[in-house]
Amino acid sequence: MKIVDLDTKGRIDIVNITKEVEEEVKKSGIQEGLVNVYTRHTTTAIVINEDEEGLLKDFIQILQRLIPDDIFNYKHNKIDNNASAHIRSIFLSPEVTIPVKDGRLWLGHWQSVFFVELDGPRKRSFAITIANHNI
Ligand code: ZN
Repeated sequence: MKIVDLDTKGRIDIVNITKEVEEEVKKSGIQEGLVNVYTRHTTTAIVINEDEEGLLKDFIQILQRLIPDDIFNYKHNKIDNNASAHIRSIFLSPEVTIPVKDGRLWLGHWQSVFFVELDGPRKRSFAITIANHNI
């Protein structure tokens, strides 16, 4: 398992981590298997989607509208003023698993892997775990 550190910027930050994941797969030498990308923070997520600037801004806007920062009287804010970040994280996922075929990530042409910061800026990390199914 490889642990990758990153510094996020801004309260919400969407960081394309596809290259880091691809490099680990290459280094491992596996031809066929699975790679899992996992974050163990409670206010982050891992998602797969298109790396298009407008879309990423739309995604941030929707997160803010669906789960507002301050219109509810969040109980968690009494101890740790970041309830909206936790709840946004709950509706996303802490991990993705991607097939590996012929030594490469089996992603679609428009798919990228993103680390989603929901309570930044902070020092964060995520894990890349590779399961080798070579026979
Ligand atoms: Zn909290």
